Parts: sequence; C-alpha cells; structure tokens
Amino acid sequence: NIGESRPVIRQLDDAAINRIAAGEVVERPASAVKELVENAIDAGATRIRIDIADGGKTLIRVTDDGCGIAPDDLPLALARHATSKIDGTDLLNIHTFGFRGEALPSLGAVGRLSVTSRAPGHDAAVIRVSGGRMEPVRPAALSAGTVVELADLFHATPARLKFMRSDRAETQAIADTVRRLAMAEPAIGFTLRDVSGGGEGRSLFRADAESGDLFDALHGRLSGVIGRDFADNALRIDATRDGLRLFGYAALPTYSRGAAVTQFLFVNGRPVRDKMLYGALRAAYFDFLSRDRHPAAALFIDCDPTLVDVNVHPAKSEVRFRDPGTARGLIVSGLRHALAEAGHRASTTVAG
Ligand code: ADP
Ligand code: MG
Repeated sequence: NIGESRPVIRQLDDAAINRIAAGEVVERPASAVKELVENAIDAGATRIRIDIADGGKTLIRVTDDGCGIAPDDLPLALARHATSKIDGTDLLNIHTFGFRGEALPSLGAVGRLSVTSRAPGHDAAVIRVSGGRMEPVRPAALSAGTVVELADLFHATPARLKFMRSDRAETQAIADTVRRLAMAEPAIGFTLRDVSGGGEGRSLFRADAESGDLFDALHGRLSGVIGRDFADNALRIDATRDGLRLFGYAALPTYSRGAAVTQFLFVNGRPVRDKMLYGALRAAYFDFLSRDRHPAAALFIDCDPTLVDVNVHPAKSEVRFRDPGTARGLIVSGLRHALAEAGHRASTTVAG
C-alpha cells in the first residue's frame, strides 16, 4: 500500500535542529572549549580561566572579565542564529571569532549549560538550558564578566559520547586548543586547570598577560607556550605583500624537528590548519633543511577580512584566500629572506 509508506515531511523542532547543528560545531570537548574561549576573547577579556573535569566530559567552565551580557539579552545569547557580532549585511567583513550565533545554542543542546554574567550598569543574572530547554533568567552573584559552565557534554547524545577518547586524550586536545589560542593573544592571561578531583585542582597551563610591543609580547608568549628553546632560536619575521602582513617567529634550521609538530599558523588571529599554508612553510625551508626535518614556526597572517574567507566550515580551521598565490609567496619569500640573512650573519660572525 503506497499510501502507508509515503514519507511524511515534518518541520523539526528547535531542540532537534540544535542537536544536529551541534554535531558540526561541537565534535569533542576541545571544540566546546574553543568556542567558549573565543567568545571570551570577542568579549574583550583580559583574563580567561578554564576549568575542566574528566577531559571536559563532565565539566567545562570558562570564566572571563569581558563585557558581560545584560540580563535581558541572556535568552537571546542562547537563541539560535542570534549574535551581537554581525548584522548579516557584510559576511565578508568579519573582525570577531564568532559570527554564526551557533555555539551557545548548540552547547545547550548537547550538555547542561549555564551562563552567568554581569554587564556594567546591570545586576548579575544566570540562565540555564538543558537538553535544549531554557529556564527563565534568575538573579545571580558575580562581580563582573561571564562564567559559562557546560556540564555533562553529550549526555543527551550517547552515540557521540561513545566516540569520546580517554580523559587523558581529551584533556590533551583541550590543552592544545588553549595553547594555540593563547599564542595569538599575548595580552590576555590564560589559566587552564583540571578540577576533576574537586577544589582548586591542578594547573595544566598558565600564561600571564604579556606587555610591550607586538614582537616583545609575542616573543614572551611563544617562549611560555612553545618553550624557551624555540624562542631563543627563532628569527623575527615581518613582511608584507599586496595587503597581507606576515609576522611571527620562525626557528633557525638548526632547531628543526623530526616531526611537523611545532608549526602554528594563524590568519587574522585564528588558529588554522591549512594545507596550502603548511606547504608554503615547507617550501620556504626547502633549501635550508634535509628532507626528514621539519621547520618550527609560529606565523601570523593579518589582512583585511575581505581578502580571506573564514566562512568555510563551522570549526573554521580552514581558510580561503582570495589570492592564495600572494599568501604562499609572502610566506616563502618572507621566511627565505630571514633565513638567508641569518645564514649570512652566522658566516660573517665566524669569519670575523
Ligand atoms: P557568536 O559568537 O557566533 O556570536 P555564540 O552562540 O557563541 O555566537 O554567542 C552568542 C552571543 O552571546 C554572542 O554574540 C555574544 O553577544 C554573547 N556572548 C557569548 N559569550 C559571551 C561572553 N563570554 N561574554 C560576553 N558575551 C558573550
Ligand atoms: Mg561564539
């Protein structure tokens, strides 16, 4: 009987829509941490504290001293496609990490989420959402900024929970995520703590706010995050081409690695893992390294947001330059120039 087997088209409810979107935005605890820390950075925080328990599976709590959210705006912050960061007219001109308005509703769909916040001139308030169901805004106690707490991630999606790796592996992924974000924001102080046992827990990562000019601050932060060794062996990179600026630090060939683990690339402050950019880095060192060695570098490309599309994927680790050749050429020539100059300096020092 054809009538009985005919498919029925239904409009999904918000909870279902958010759970589906969450699958894209929140792959694992580290992606939740990324979204929450980026929100804190977008909010102008100067200090960000991240507490996690059990690899982030039972608790992720991000505390910032940023601009806060007014009580009346809290329900909107948790609503889908609601954002304070763009007005939708110019998707090519994005200066913030966030713009989709998807993170908080997605997290609220896959965990127990609470957002406590205080905006200047307002009382502190808290809103809770669990399994996509929002509770009314209530008064809370908080002196400034925002605390977002995500408990029992994926409790409502057991299939996803099954794919989680060990607490240790998820903790490692969270620490990597925080380190990468911290590299791009030297002026912000970060702490990451494992509070699995309760109480103050134990420190996994800490970087105090750096001061000084761009290169001083960055050098200090990279020294703390990657290591003194890297910073002591790194060349300052600063080059421009056709509206793109490349800056950062790239290690001397003598500091190369057996694996490509110390390669950190950022576009407009966003950590990216982009094949084209990794390839350019390899190409730049081609004449300076043997085939089994890998360069170490932390490089930042800044440009007008209209020259690069970050809207490729919700996780946003891929980018699409309007002119990929310029980005590649800038990395290759900028690094080669610095490496050749360092080589020249070294040989004249020995000779003299
Ligand atoms: P997006 O970051 O794409 O705008 P989110 O779902 O991550 O979307 O956040 C929704 C909105 O909630 C943000 O646009 C912002 O106005 C507000 N918000 C989220 N986190 C914070 C925070 N830590 N401090 C201040 N405002 C925040
Ligand atoms: Mg966001």
